Amino acid sequence: MVEAISNGWFSEIQNDLWPGQAFSLKIKQVVHEEKSKYQDIKVIETATFGTCLILDGIIQCTTRDEFSYQEMISFISLNSHPNPRKVLIVGGGDGGVAREVAKHPLVEEVHQVEIDERVVELSKKFLPNMATGFQNPKVKLTIGDGFAYMKKHVNEFDVIITDSSDPVGPAQTLFEESYYGLMKNALRPGGIVGSQGGSYWVDCDYLKKTMDGCRKHFPTVSYAHTNTPSYPCGHIGFVIGSLDKNKNFKTPLTNFSEAELNDMNLKYYSRDMHSAAFALPRWVEAKLSSN
Ligand code: SAM
Repeated sequence: MVEAISNGWFSEIQNDLWPGQAFSLKIKQVVHEEKSKYQDIKVIETATFGTCLILDGIIQCTTRDEFSYQEMISFISLNSHPNPRKVLIVGGGDGGVAREVAKHPLVEEVHQVEIDERVVELSKKFLPNMATGFQNPKVKLTIGDGFAYMKKHVNEFDVIITDSSDPVGPAQTLFEESYYGLMKNALRPGGIVGSQGGSYWVDCDYLKKTMDGCRKHFPTVSYAHTNTPSYPCGHIGFVIGSLDKNKNFKTPLTNFSEAELNDMNLKYYSRDMHSAAFALPRWVEAKLSSN
């Protein structure tokens, strides 16, 4: 496992999740480095991607492209539910998903459970445009493990969004089949889950395994994707599950007007982007629907 800062460049850790590739960013300045109780945390100022948060050698977000992820995971999940009043976010320590979820006019309460309070504190300091999510009065943050938290909550949430890091270290359990079983119990009838599901370009077998885990507990399951240049292969997606067996994810149930999109400062999400996110290449459709 080699993560490198050399000659003014940061290269992502070489690992088994995406063997043979390592995205690199030119550094202006290393802003902060520490080891928290859970992970190695770095914040760097890059030459062309703004400020970048790195956990255990893996890029979590950059200020240049974060909205393409935060808006899509939030509004695809929320607008697939007819009335998303009470929402749970798991992970999301940078605050970007909380920022987006709290904007939704139907959302009344946002609960968030993040394992590492140092990620939250450093995001407040170095990523204020994302961490602004924590200042919204709708948002209540708990520091703890999302998997353990889920065991204690039954029939409570309309939507659960899991904005986790990748399936190594503390986030590994958040990709397991048993986690989908716990989320099902934590949802109210008709509830929706939307989880960081990785990219089919990076590992389609792993994505299929995660979706099969979701299918064991949710009658309707799909995958939506977005382009985020600083993630591996510039691509990432979300495993979306519904307790409604007739759910059609492609058609959003809430449609924002142009004025609302502007007022909410949405730069990526729109009705068209929502629907298009579910269109998949033929080889991916075949793979994800195979037995
Ligand atoms: N959008 C990013 C991505 O797709 O890679 C994820 C960003 S967010 C910073 C990921 C957060 O998940 C981190 O702050 C990490 O501490 C948190 N996390 C990891 N495992 C967790 C767990 N078991 N329970 C709660 N939070 C967890």
